[in-house]
Amino acid sequence: MGTREVPRDEPAVPMMRTEMSLRTAMYNNELVLHYQPVVDLTLGAVVGVEALVRWMHPSDGLIGPDQFIPVAEASGLIVALGTWVLDQAATQAVRWRAEGLSLDMAVNLSTRQVAHLDLVPTVARVLRETGLDPHRLVFEVTESAVMEDAEAAAAVLNRITEMGVSLSIDDFGTGYNSLVYLKRYLIRSLKIDRSFTAGMGVNAEDDAIVASVIGLAKAVGGSCIAEGIETQEQYVALRSLRCGFGQGWLFGRAVPAEELPELIAECEAKLAALALTFPQEN
Ligand code: C2E
Ligand code: MG
Ligand code: MG
Ligand code: MG
Repeated sequence: MGTREVPRDEPAVPMMRTEMSLRTAMYNNELVLHYQPVVDLTLGAVVGVEALVRWMHPSDGLIGPDQFIPVAEASGLIVALGTWVLDQAATQAVRWRAEGLSLDMAVNLSTRQVAHLDLVPTVARVLRETGLDPHRLVFEVTESAVMEDAEAAAAVLNRITEMGVSLSIDDFGTGYNSLVYLKRYLIRSLKIDRSFTAGMGVNAEDDAIVASVIGLAKAVGGSCIAEGIETQEQYVALRSLRCGFGQGWLFGRAVPAEELPELIAECEAKLAALALTFPQEN
């Protein structure tokens, strides 16, 4: 994403892909999942990955989800796309498990999927067919997904957590200013949006917001994952606030499945070096 040269006369915001071309892409197997490590900041280890979909366009190269997920959502294609993502991610998690790599697998769900009653049988089918341990599967939903059409979402999400699958709230702090859903669902983690992580260690407001989200996550029996950790300053600030988990380019970008084992080794070496340079004070 963002690596293509954009000619000067093209708009700064890349054109949205059309529903028609997205259908063709799915049919032609042009979608691919990349996986970004999720690190346990206390243990200094990679404990999971987040599956992030990309489109390998035959002429335009790798296209990021922000350019086609909205089209998929608007057209309803997101349901089929989401099922494909889930099948792929679960299959990959089981494959890694067989290779001795035990990782939690986080999969993003759009609002539209959460409102769809088919999600429950789909998840049950995928767990059954792949043999993935439900406790290894985490669904990331946004605040809007749990607030809009709350009744429908509750019916679906509570069934899914009863199967042993976890829920995380993605982009936490950027959506609704209501927290009632924290009582309605069993939530494993709050994912601190990267707009807050960005100012950590340099902006007192961001530090205060993140500290309160960490407190809130603990209060509801969950943990915190800081998204978008790019700098050592952010790492140090998050550790001093006892943030449990993190993701970001400081540790590793999303990579194709075959590159993950190597990335994990690099990532854990980096975590060990960071822990030596910045020992945890009390
Ligand atoms: P998200 O779930 O919040 O994913 C985090 C995004 O931040 C990803 O962008 C990731 O590549 C990017 N990121 C990770 N670390 C850093 C960092 O240190 N700095 C910066 N600047 N960015 C970082 P990506 O892959 O482009 O995905 C964008 C969004 O597209 C995701 O946001 C998610 O909402 C959506 N998405 C991705 N895959 C799927 C999917 O399979 N299904 C659905 N429904 N949505 C998806
Ligand atoms: Mg996510
Ligand atoms: Mg996010
Ligand atoms: Mg996001």
